[in-house]
Amino acid sequence: NASRLLGKTVLITGASSGIGAATAVLFAKGGSNIILTARRADALQKVADECTAAHKEAGLQHGGKFVTIQIDVSDRSQINGFLERIPVDLREIDILVNNAGYVVGVDKVGDLSLDNMEGMFATNVFGLIALTQLFIKEFKKREAGHVINLGSIAGREAYPGGSIYCATKHAVSAFTGSLMKELVDTPIRVTEIQPGMVETEFSLIRFKGDQSAADKVYEGLQPLLAEDIAEEIVWAASRPPHVNLAEVFVLPVNQA
Ligand code: NDP
Repeated sequence: NASRLLGKTVLITGASSGIGAATAVLFAKGGSNIILTARRADALQKVADECTAAHKEAGLQHGGKFVTIQIDVSDRSQINGFLERIPVDLREIDILVNNAGYVVGVDKVGDLSLDNMEGMFATNVFGLIALTQLFIKEFKKREAGHVINLGSIAGREAYPGGSIYCATKHAVSAFTGSLMKELVDTPIRVTEIQPGMVETEFSLIRFKGDQSAADKVYEGLQPLLAEDIAEEIVWAASRPPHVNLAEVFVLPVNQA
């Protein structure tokens, strides 16, 4: 029931593009307040403006507060003090969407770059864990809250050239599973969303800006849209409080 989102406050990482941006717009349509975070301030502001327009169009009384906060989740010094950067009236987060993540390179193990490895782990794993830690304390105090983590099909299987990215997403999956079990006696919910191929900036970043290599990935396949994943995230968040959608694995119809 979409009315369960009315007036909720959602924090989304990686809200400047792709799945995070589409998720922000959908929560905005549902009457939520949103804290949009990522590194690119201009792109974030554009998405916040889209949220304002979507909220206005929906004609809802609830929600409608959209703030952007620039943060690099891989930088520990930016995590410290992050709570204080959230406007006071939005500090009680109801839903945390840990979505920021990327893959760069398709290198075989022998060719891996140490910088790429560290960067992917710092963002996809340590950033997600650090933000979860920050908010889980608040959730426990208030006995409410929902953590929604973006895993991947790469967290369920492994493929050549994907060793580090697959390892980061397996780590996300393991962390999310442990967290859910730790919170089993509380009303706090934990969900992992595991998309297959979604057409976003993701592929372009993976191929270091080479558009034709990025496009090749989708050949012979109709990839998912960012909006398809946003719908799953918002669906999980809008279940009745006693329902925890633990895992959502979503594939394009022609991806196995
Ligand atoms: P995009 O590249 O479109 O979005 C990634 C987002 O993460 C951007 O908003 C980017 O913003 C942000 N981000 C990246 N690094 C950092 C950082 N260090 N600190 C803060 N924000 C960061 O890709 P998607 O929307 O496709 O990806 C979203 C999530 O979905 C990722 O976790 C990805 O692994 C996962 N996923 C994607 C799939 C796909 O096929 N697209 C498949 C399965 C999972 P900015 O650059 O402004 O910081």
